[in-house]
Amino acid sequence: MQNLNPDRLYLTTTLRIYKMTDTLFKKIIDREIPADIVYEDDNCLAFKDINPVAPTHILIIPKKQIEKVADAEIGDKELLGHLMLVAGNIARDLGVEDAFRLVVNNGSGAQQTVFHLHIHLIAGREFNWPPG
Ligand code: 5GP
Repeated sequence: MQNLNPDRLYLTTTLRIYKMTDTLFKKIIDREIPADIVYEDDNCLAFKDINPVAPTHILIIPKKQIEKVADAEIGDKELLGHLMLVAGNIARDLGVEDAFRLVVNNGSGAQQTVFHLHIHLIAGREFNWPPG
């Protein structure tokens, strides 16, 4: 029987515990399920929300699997900034650059339902403040 290195075993177990499970957004990235894609580059994908809450409702997601904003790390800094720039570009392309809202739900207590970080880009209707 092979000798087991207890340190290596611990590392393997830890990595397995923290590896994020695939969500349906990962399946959209991998083209396993369809979506109405409006933008794609090497680092992100943007597609129409299946259940829009406004005439324009786009989801912008990183291709890297990050569960939620609170799980992002310093190495994700450029990626997170990129998502914001892409949101602005999409808003301009769709002609809604003067009035749109970006929403990021973090955690189930904040109504996050898909645990793959995403920015909602919502436009085309009246907005209220504070948001619900
Ligand atoms: P959350 O509530 O996590 O912030 O937002 C998840 C969003 O994903 C919801 O607005 C929901 O309508 C959208 N969504 C859930 N399943 C699908 C799907 O299969 N395709 C698309 N395009 N959007 C989805």
